[in-house]
Amino acid sequence: MEDKEYLEETVDVENVDQNNQEDKDDKNDYEDVCFLCHRPKSKVGNMITLGQGICICSDCMQKTMDTIQNGNIDFHKMPGISMINLADLQNMIPQRQKVKKKKPKEEPVKAFDIRDIPAPHKIKASLDEYVIGQDHAKKVISVAVYNHYKRVATGTQDEIEIEKSNMLMIGPTGSGKTYLVKTLARLLDVPLAITDATSLTEAGYIGDDIESVISKLLAAADNDVDKAERGIVFIDEIDKIAKKKDTHHRDVSGESVQQGMLKLLEGAEVEVPVGANSKNAMVPLTTVNTRNILFICGGAFPELENVIKERLNKKSSMGFQADLKDKYDKEPNLLQKVTLEDLRNFGMIPEFLGRLPIIFTLEGLTKEMLVRILKEPKNAILRQYQKLLALDEVQLEFNDEALEAIAEKAMEKDTGARALRAIIEEFMLDIMYEIPKDDNIGRVTITREYIGHTGGPVITMRGVLELEERSGT
Ligand code: ADP
Repeated sequence: MEDKEYLEETVDVENVDQNNQEDKDDKNDYEDVCFLCHRPKSKVGNMITLGQGICICSDCMQKTMDTIQNGNIDFHKMPGISMINLADLQNMIPQRQKVKKKKPKEEPVKAFDIRDIPAPHKIKASLDEYVIGQDHAKKVISVAVYNHYKRVATGTQDEIEIEKSNMLMIGPTGSGKTYLVKTLARLLDVPLAITDATSLTEAGYIGDDIESVISKLLAAADNDVDKAERGIVFIDEIDKIAKKKDTHHRDVSGESVQQGMLKLLEGAEVEVPVGANSKNAMVPLTTVNTRNILFICGGAFPELENVIKERLNKKSSMGFQADLKDKYDKEPNLLQKVTLEDLRNFGMIPEFLGRLPIIFTLEGLTKEMLVRILKEPKNAILRQYQKLLALDEVQLEFNDEALEAIAEKAMEKDTGARALRAIIEEFMLDIMYEIPKDDNIGRVTITREYIGHTGGPVITMRGVLELEERSGT
């Protein structure tokens, strides 16, 4: 009897022999408990079932065997048992003793569910929280993704098959191409594989073969084929696989990679190794269908501006309204005037372009945009540093002129927003090193002089801060 009470106290014992239906329902929610040591199956591993709901764990079984072998067993000393008789055991305990299994951890809350894809304006609003500017790009990508996942969710296969919304994204380095795709994949909670077109070669040559991108995607989806088949593949530096002009050699990393990608972009069954990058005898293979995978290609296309300029100049130098030859030299966003013809002249093959029906451009970042990138996104770099110093109870402030100075420095480097982090990290190192030395520091203000190495940051002591707060300034 004591034993029974003990069981009821320590484990969530469930006596469910009265109702068979209930029993069936609960079967999966409860686990077996060892009859001797009372530990649940999740602790002791597999158990030996003696029938009628009595289980013994392998530890206890082993101990019993050892005792029998040593000749020390005395059933009369075991509490409440005179003989090992299953029927007796049966009377001692409730018919079934099960411990309720732990609930699996709840899935993290997703921003969106792709089966219930939100309207494009909502997708764009979420992107706005992270990506500054690039309104046109965000709008195009939101609509394309909306259509794509609607097509995936409904599995439209009837006579009007909706075309796949693969995209080609053209924009200068550091304008946020990769960032836009990463943010999107995170918001939609779909796996994302990012690869560099320069590393791809035609199968059989040195480099990654084209199908390796699907392998990466499968890895990003934790080897879940279903999930991978709804994922996004981002192929960066796509301009680097343009057809090479005037080459007498076989073009294994340019035109043939474009050729090799055609069937992936369109939708094909691809055999990929599971948990490895290359196919070999030791790894299992699985088949992934790329029909619903969204491919986004991106590139800076640096020479494309010249191609566009050439076309525009040719047009405007004909007829009566002949323009000056350098009319387009100072045009800031010439890339926006891109046409399919320009891309073909650049070296992209028509079949490849045909499989990327959505083509859009990103603007080069201006100084104002860089300043906004510093402070506005949800995970803005300044906010990250502010949070770090706040843990030491120090306020970190940047005055407007300092932000402009940082943006100006970044503009000089010509690598878009990518330069911002490097610049900030350089001068924040000293701040992060020096400030924790002195507990009395309450606020650090970064100034233009400090960025330009002509002065230091403004340090405010805690006492002064308190006075300021009290006087309400
Ligand atoms: P690329 O266009 O060369 O792919 P990235 O997307 O890698 O450029 O941008 C580099 C970094 O700059 C990103 O990680 C992001 O932090 C920042 N960034 C670039 N553009 C933007 C933007 N429009 N809004 C916010 N952050 C941006």
